[in-house]
Amino acid sequence: TEKYEKGLEKTRKSFSERMNELFANFRTVDEDFFDELEEVLIGADVGFDTTMEITDALRQEVKLRNAKNQGAVQEAIIEKLVEIYEKGEPEKPEINLNPDGLTIMLFVGVNGVGKTTTIGKLAHQYQAEGKKVLLAAGDTFRAGAIDQLVVWGERVGVDVVHGVPGGDPAAVVYDAVKQAKSEHADILMVDTAGRLQNKVNLMNELEKMKRIIEREVPGAPHEVLLVLDATTGQNAMIQAKQFKETTDVTGLVLTKLDGTAKGGIVLAIRNELHIPVKLVGLGEGMDDLQEFDPSEYVYGLFS
Ligand code: GDP
Repeated sequence: TEKYEKGLEKTRKSFSERMNELFANFRTVDEDFFDELEEVLIGADVGFDTTMEITDALRQEVKLRNAKNQGAVQEAIIEKLVEIYEKGEPEKPEINLNPDGLTIMLFVGVNGVGKTTTIGKLAHQYQAEGKKVLLAAGDTFRAGAIDQLVVWGERVGVDVVHGVPGGDPAAVVYDAVKQAKSEHADILMVDTAGRLQNKVNLMNELEKMKRIIEREVPGAPHEVLLVLDATTGQNAMIQAKQFKETTDVTGLVLTKLDGTAKGGIVLAIRNELHIPVKLVGLGEGMDDLQEFDPSEYVYGLFS
């Protein structure tokens, strides 16, 4: 889609410019070529391990196919990137919705990555599809977090269940689940705190919220979405590792892809952590959220 292409413009430009440079000087596929290719990939935040995996696979592929000309090599690169991303997983990882009633989604991630914004955008989408949406302000820790979610609620026209700043987030979640059930809501999205200063506390808090949700609605939460800021590159990777260790993350939301030339982080995270990227944020507006489509993404890098 047009929005998608625009959002990835920075990554595409820098990545494809460097690719084009690489191919402009193309003579043959030798070790120099692979060295330069590794540089381009690492420069786009594809990550060291994933880069090595790609270039190793490519070396073999190029040999196998006896690919010597530019077009054949380029095609092999694209195929390897898509393959590395998809590795046995469904091609288009969608948000898991409960077909028989209330869907509950928990949003986790450190402060500033775009959790609240993502919830607002998604609420807007579901609302537009005619679904009844409810939001829960589970970040009672950061000053302003409740207000911010309330503002989003007003903007898109959905109710926000909240307590007082400093209150018990588990109590907010409990109230929100109750309200969602009594109002026959379709979707409840829960914002959570993202302070990393006290990791153990935060993880305990998330665990407690999850237990309440599991107890009140069998089969829920249907998604635990970890939100990561793509502009933070390898830091996003470290956060993902930390959250994955303690929380059953079911999918990733990669925000601010519009603000980075290093969208390669998508490949790195997927390849090294095996968590599917489900949504990408491509701007600050209500409509700037898209489902992630791996092959569209990789082909986009070369267009
Ligand atoms: P939270 O602390 O995780 O809830 O983060 P916020 O939702 O408050 O977002 C932090 C900042 O990032 C805000 O200024 C958002 O407008 C901005 N933001 C969120 N998602 C995106 C995105 O996809 N693209 C851009 N450019 N900005 C974003």
